Amino acid sequence: MKRTKHTKIVATISDKNCEPDFLRSLMDAGMNVVRINTAHQTTESAMKIINNVRAVCNCLAILVDTKGPEIRTKNINDPIRITKGERIVIKGGEEISTEGLLVVDYPDFARDIPVGSSVLIDDGELELLIVEKEGDHLIALVGNDGFIKNKKSINVPGVSLNLPSLTEKDRQFIRWAAANDLDFIAHSFVRNKEDVLAVQAVLDEENSKIKIIAKIENTDGFKNIDEILNYAYGIMVARGDLGIEIPAEKIPAIQRTLIRKCVERKKPVIIATQMLHTMISNPRPTRAEVSDVATAIYDRTDAVMLSGETAYGQYPVEAVQLMSRVAIEVESSKDKRNDLPVPRLENEVSAFLAEAAVMSANELKVAAIITDTLTGKIARYISAFRSPRPVYAKCHTGRVKRELALSYGVFASEIVVKKNKYKLVETSLLDLVENGYISEKDTVVYVGGNFGVGGGTSFIEIASVAQMMHQKKVKSER
Ligand code: PGA
Ligand code: MN
Repeated sequence: MKRTKHTKIVATISDKNCEPDFLRSLMDAGMNVVRINTAHQTTESAMKIINNVRAVCNCLAILVDTKGPEIRTKNINDPIRITKGERIVIKGGEEISTEGLLVVDYPDFARDIPVGSSVLIDDGELELLIVEKEGDHLIALVGNDGFIKNKKSINVPGVSLNLPSLTEKDRQFIRWAAANDLDFIAHSFVRNKEDVLAVQAVLDEENSKIKIIAKIENTDGFKNIDEILNYAYGIMVARGDLGIEIPAEKIPAIQRTLIRKCVERKKPVIIATQMLHTMISNPRPTRAEVSDVATAIYDRTDAVMLSGETAYGQYPVEAVQLMSRVAIEVESSKDKRNDLPVPRLENEVSAFLAEAAVMSANELKVAAIITDTLTGKIARYISAFRSPRPVYAKCHTGRVKRELALSYGVFASEIVVKKNKYKLVETSLLDLVENGYISEKDTVVYVGGNFGVGGGTSFIEIASVAQMMHQKKVKSER
């Protein structure tokens, strides 16, 4: 059978371009997760995307990206011209921004920003150096010519700010995501566990099972990654802001460290931003971009992401197709000597069985690893060991199936609940055979539980599909 990619693709979709036919072609090209960036959407416009995604396939997971604790320029009617060497005043508050006065949407800006800080505006396009602090305002020296526009991003590298974890807009969107049973909230600018817990608190109020992806995009988030991973389902390495907050040359090493930490914790990781940036306007990527996608996969990421390339670019389908082709090439040339060690906690049966399953996939001629999973945990565990063979996960709910859309090498589908273990194995195998994923002659590894649905993982079996199905019949006839 033709190999399908194991690396997952997250594609950002805008309400301006989200017709079902378009979404279907992205899915056929390899998109697994649809990302909605709330910085550019209202709940109404986002609803249109959701309806169209669901009309295409209930297998596509939906990820909602929040605004998070960030600062933006405020009250600018006409772009303000600034020239190198000029001094301007910056402050938080309600005043109108004018020539010589820049107002930002964080009231305590002047209090929290120390003299000597560099303030970057509009994804780093403009740079200001803070030279004086005077009561409620700061004086900044302009570093380069340009125009400051309204609602543009402000980054102050290396400075921790006391911004609240969630804005009112974030709360609205999280409640809306819960009400619409979406799959992931990717929370921006996560600095510590409190930022994750603030999102979790809103989800808990709504009784929602939505999983939280922490976007790591500043120094604090990177520094506090261990505690963040205690509470988040997974992370996104948000290189757009990260590359402004931290010198760009440090990002490759940080990307590797973050991927390794996620693999060790058996949690999904997404590498994001500018992967195929020039494909926004060009049909072909640069060689450097192809290498960037490849590096993320060699680094052992679960997923790679597209932003403007699919949200408003001219070659969205080509970008997803290209990513898929690169993934297939790179995955088949991965060297397992470079596999990241995945620690097992003492007496952790699931991890032991997951590792044994992947070892057999590495050393024996098996066609696939198959598992049934109630919560998705065993599938994520198997995924962490990065099997060279596909992992077919049979899920009892659509939600768990979609959650696995972020896990490397996992191909998830739903199964009707069967209490009897033998029936569960047989139904899972039969379904995969009927859909052409495996054949009866194939040797496969089955990772399952002897104690019914939700009873935990307790065995692995390695045999031909036919044998496994036959064994079931003998036993259940007794
Ligand atoms: P954004 O996040 O696109 O929402 O800014 C991703 C990033 O910063 O890389
Ligand atoms: Mn960002």
